[in-house]
Amino acid sequence: MGNGPDEKSKKKNQQAELEVGVLAIQGDFAEHIAVLGKLGVKAREVRLPEHLDSVDGLIIPGGESTTLSRLMTIYNLREPVERMAAEGRAVWGTCAGLIMLSREITEQDPIPLGIMDIGVQRNAFGRQVDSFEQTLDVSALGPAPFHAIFIRAPVIIRVGDGVEVLSALDADRPVAVRQGNLMATAFHPELTDDYRFHSYFLEMAGGNGKSPRSRNGAP
Ligand code: GLN
Repeated sequence: MGNGPDEKSKKKNQQAELEVGVLAIQGDFAEHIAVLGKLGVKAREVRLPEHLDSVDGLIIPGGESTTLSRLMTIYNLREPVERMAAEGRAVWGTCAGLIMLSREITEQDPIPLGIMDIGVQRNAFGRQVDSFEQTLDVSALGPAPFHAIFIRAPVIIRVGDGVEVLSALDADRPVAVRQGNLMATAFHPELTDDYRFHSYFLEMAGGNGKSPRSRNGAP
């Protein structure tokens, strides 16, 4: 049982039934959608609150968090995203998406959603190292290191009690965290061809205690 071939194909089938929303109002949502497609998962571009109704999870992509923040207010997306997170559906923020998930940031703008118990500093790596690539250990993804691309990245400066650090640059600088159904990464897995973070997120999205089918009312 557990890891037998039957379990594996069952898991695969369940993932194929998943529908994952990608917030598509700003930033590099197309790259996330492309990865989901390669993993055989249905992706839904989310621009309006009702686009969230059927999805099993949501990815908030990288981009510019001050713009994302404004557009989420204008499109009335804040409350429905907060609600889906409270319901236990999976939400993953990458880079600017991480900033949006946080409880507090070191500046007035943007206004984060506040659903994840972390504190964040934007553009934490200064001008000289605006962008860099770094190999990370992420034990939740297995022994192979993960090649992470950081672009004007934020860093997490406070981690709440219920938050698990999945990976860090050093003891003071976590860059990938999880809190139950929520995940945040300061870097951009969608810009590499290593899809393990996406697969990990799909497991989170499928593991919320309700299969996608049963939530839609089918047996
Ligand atoms: N620096 C951007 C911000 O503060 C984030 C950059 C990114 O998402 N790659 O919103």
